[in-house]
Amino acid sequence: MSAHFDLSKEEMKSYGYKIVDLIAEHWDSIGSKKPVMRATRKEMDKVFLQEAPEQGTPAEEVLDFVMENVMPNSTVISHPKAYSFVPGPSNFISTMADSLATGFNIFSGGWMVSPAAAELEIVTMNWLLKMYNFPVEKGGGLFTSGGSMANLTALVTARRIKCGDDFSKAVIYLSDQAHSSNIKAIRVLGFKKEQIRVLPTDLEFRISINKLKNAIAKDRLEGLQPFCFIASAGTTNTGTVDPLNDIADICEEEDLWFHIDGAYGGAAILSDKGAKALRGIERADSLTVDPHKWFYQPYEIGCLLVKDASWLSNTFSETPEYLRDIEGNESEINFYDYGVQLTRRFRALKFYMSIKTYGLDTFKKAVSYNIQLADDVEKMLRKSRNWEIISPATLAVINFRYNPIGLNLEEHEIDKLNQKISEKVMESGEAFLVTTILNKQVVLRMCLINPKTTFDDVKSTFLLCNSYAEEILEKQK
Ligand SMILES: *Cc1c(COP(=O)(O)O)cnc(C)c1O
Repeated sequence: MSAHFDLSKEEMKSYGYKIVDLIAEHWDSIGSKKPVMRATRKEMDKVFLQEAPEQGTPAEEVLDFVMENVMPNSTVISHPKAYSFVPGPSNFISTMADSLATGFNIFSGGWMVSPAAAELEIVTMNWLLKMYNFPVEKGGGLFTSGGSMANLTALVTARRIKCGDDFSKAVIYLSDQAHSSNIKAIRVLGFKKEQIRVLPTDLEFRISINKLKNAIAKDRLEGLQPFCFIASAGTTNTGTVDPLNDIADICEEEDLWFHIDGAYGGAAILSDKGAKALRGIERADSLTVDPHKWFYQPYEIGCLLVKDASWLSNTFSETPEYLRDIEGNESEINFYDYGVQLTRRFRALKFYMSIKTYGLDTFKKAVSYNIQLADDVEKMLRKSRNWEIISPATLAVINFRYNPIGLNLEEHEIDKLNQKISEKVMESGEAFLVTTILNKQVVLRMCLINPKTTFDDVKSTFLLCNSYAEEILEKQK
């Protein structure tokens, strides 16, 4: 009985070329598509649900079926009018780099197996460490599946280094605007509710330093062990950066681990304006950034940086007998010693190839453009009688709502109106624009990190919103 998965060289080529053509076609025509795609479970079941087939189907036929049914039923998150939640602009070089990494199936766990893969992760980590003014010699980090995994990896490390084995009295602090992945990570780590302090933010959605100080003092009086604070460098909701230098001072005084979640805003360091907003970021013990967001990488790639690489190896290194032969020397890093995964895909390749191909300069220009675009949108809205800014443009995020001067709508009416505007826009499929809640108000939110998004794209989206708003108000009369 013979069983193998091989295609002939000619078959591989024609199949592969076809897929490359499809991807290039998609990239080239992305703006003419509709970004939003939604479907119910029932509809999807109708298309896809079947038993695993015993017999195969010709490859091209399966591919055609996928192109007809899978791709059109997925939101185009790289679309210029995808404004939510955090878009994924991606880039073509990295897309192909991912294909190479997968095509050669490179194991990116240990030095001995793939020295070049490990070296590229070291090199790209050095680029990132330098970008954030972390010590390049002593510092370190690794690529993860995303920001959630980077935050989890950071908090495991923080707990190991600050608490050792006994974390029964440990207390961790974060703000009510911190990303949900942090709470998820804290729960995964087995902390009890009583060990988590979610602190309220001020009117600008920043952590209140006073409340943090008070909470720490109170916990010390109770005999508890404050051990970690999680700050946000760009909250997902509003792009707000916590007062990083003030927090760093407190963490130093109180001997707390200072983790910064920069999964959303970290990449803003590439622009002058962003770098100013992120002042103090270099004082973190650990920093999450998320290249598959604003570093324009395709999914999945997150990243954790730490001040001292030995913190990671002290936390994650296990030396089972079957890995005996691949233990290298100190400088030859086995990235499985730095985090949770043993077998790891070669994420560094896309980061490396895209920065080498485009140059950092292109990334800097793109990030600056994104921040400027949001500022321009804010200016436009400030001049309008219909729109009210709820949270000003901050690191390319802006929150606003439809609330025309002179209509004197009640709060609950404004909430409903804006909810409906979002629903109508989503129904039309013309733009991916959803609401969030700020200060108990329903607001619309735009995250403008796609360098392909033009001011005209945004203007036309607002025209659409205006017409839906008028239609909704008209019906209520
Ligand atoms: C997106 C995000 C995360 C989670 O990152 P994933 O890559 O989605 O896992 C964490 N924190 C912040 C601030 C984010 O914006």
